[in-house]
Amino acid sequence: MHNSTQIAIDLKICKIYIDGKQKDSDGKLYQQLNPATAEPAALIPYCTTAEVDSAIASAQAAFPGWSRTPVLQRSRILFHFRDLLEKHSEELIALITEENGKTLEESKGSFQRGLECVEFACGAPTLMMGEGLEQISNGVDTSVIRKPLGVCVGITPFNFPFMVPLWMFPVAIACGNTFVLKPSEKVPRSSVRIVELLYEAGLPAGVINVVHGAKDVVNQLLNDPRVRAVSFVGSSPVARYIYETASAKGKRVQALGGAKNHSVVMPDSDMKSTVESIMASSFGCAGERCVATSVVVAVGEAGDALVAELTKAANSMTVGAGDKAGITMGPVISPEAKERILSMIDAGEKEGAKIARDGRGDRVNKSEGYFLGPTIFDQVKPSMRIAREEIFGPVLSVIRAKDLKEAIEIVNASEHGNAASVYTKSGTVAREFTNAVQTGMVGVNIGVPAPVAIFPFSGWKGSFYGDLHALGKDGIRFYTETKVVTSRWVD
Ligand code: NAD
Repeated sequence: MHNSTQIAIDLKICKIYIDGKQKDSDGKLYQQLNPATAEPAALIPYCTTAEVDSAIASAQAAFPGWSRTPVLQRSRILFHFRDLLEKHSEELIALITEENGKTLEESKGSFQRGLECVEFACGAPTLMMGEGLEQISNGVDTSVIRKPLGVCVGITPFNFPFMVPLWMFPVAIACGNTFVLKPSEKVPRSSVRIVELLYEAGLPAGVINVVHGAKDVVNQLLNDPRVRAVSFVGSSPVARYIYETASAKGKRVQALGGAKNHSVVMPDSDMKSTVESIMASSFGCAGERCVATSVVVAVGEAGDALVAELTKAANSMTVGAGDKAGITMGPVISPEAKERILSMIDAGEKEGAKIARDGRGDRVNKSEGYFLGPTIFDQVKPSMRIAREEIFGPVLSVIRAKDLKEAIEIVNASEHGNAASVYTKSGTVAREFTNAVQTGMVGVNIGVPAPVAIFPFSGWKGSFYGDLHALGKDGIRFYTETKVVTSRWVD
């Protein structure tokens, strides 16, 4: 973000949401830059302490009424919300591309995945059901019911401006909680627009509130005693900090962190479909996905042909502004991100990896956007920084391994444990890989997978801090606590 001292006055100022109303913040303004043009796109306020306090107070005041609203009514509002999102899909997809830089096709994909989260949350009446057993003793029955927690907080990253906020608040509010959302300060406008549509769908005032800012605003949310639970998605160091800080204050936390995902390619894999799948997995969204394939482990003789085919496919990618026809890779988010990725490419060269395809000069248009094409490193060693650290950009490292056992050891040596895939025609190999690999999500003949919303987003190790993951039944459990009722009725 850039200080707003020399800004044009006619830029739109991003709003906040408190008590069901859009408001202007009194906080300091920062420029949001369009990653495809490097031109100012909007002004983003960093909220004052008083505004964050009001957002929490508003969520707290809304909780008694909302938590007692019948779950069928809560769910019905989410059905309307889902329809409004679909009605405004074109506008929202364009906004995702403008804020984040993704191609329109990629924004459309993330829109669809976000919509599926709302559809999942609409199932709250069934998902929240408890269980019971009669006559556990003479005349005594026991049942378990699920109760909402209270005020929940969501803190989200820049890479999915629409989808990641929707991993959180639809499930939280469907379960009867109220919410304060702090979207990424790099892409907050998508969140404000979707919350506007949620209120249009009939949500009572205060059930969701939106504040903007960075570390200070987050710290205030983590330390406020009125907040019962915190959902976070972002980089691993911040995820760990959020987990340690909020759990020390007695809050529930689910903190989803960074990743370093591996795809293992066996010599018997189908080359054509494997290359197509790895290209999409590694370079989709310019590599800015926590489920991107960042390292390919090529087993046995798979390596040479694979590197040649990946290079050929990378040469056919078109790098440019995501809203233009024919573009297959948009910019990365910011000049700082571009610099960081370039410095990792330098580190790879210095440590002796071989550049099979250099994307540093790629772009089709002449704008000042933060473009980088696909870069592929071959002969990468597991000890190199490019093999160990999250790059979060369009850089793929190929490590050679002699057999499946060595490949699995390479995957399992990572401090991250988000996801991994294997490409093979052998059921035995697939089964062994699925069983032995220490990641929370596994793909077989598919790019490192992000499960659909009915399943949990299940990272392990340094990719997740907490107990209950986002979405799926875990998501419902995270946003509710159980109450066990034991009753005796005597005639
Ligand atoms: P980030 O950690 O920099 O920021 C995420 C959020 O945390 C933002 O809202 C930001 O304002 C806040 N924040 C940043 N620094 C903070 C600090 N020191 N104290 C308190 N709050 C702070 O992440 P990002 O760059 O926006 O997103 C990219 C990262 O997110 C990558 O590491 C990626 O792997 C990860 N990610 C993970 C998943 C997942 O499901 N595991 C999904 C998407 C993105």
